Amino acid sequence: MPTTQPREGRCQHCQQTRPLFKHEGELQYWGYEGPTAWLCARDYSAREVAVENGRDIRIERDLIVFPAA
Ligand SMILES: [Zn+2]
Repeated sequence: MPTTQPREGRCQHCQQTRPLFKHEGELQYWGYEGPTAWLCARDYSAREVAVENGRDIRIERDLIVFPAA
């Protein structure tokens, strides 16, 4: 489960505006720095499962997660 406080923004997977958690990618699993991503709780869990299985889920790198108010 995410340990950080959620922050409202657009999820880099489903692109919905939701409370987001910063996912550190594969860092803690493989010993190198994977790409971090801001994901909603559902997609955070999905990425955890994907990483455990040696895969990854699509991350929208160009998405503006926290638009200026
Ligand atoms: Zn999402």
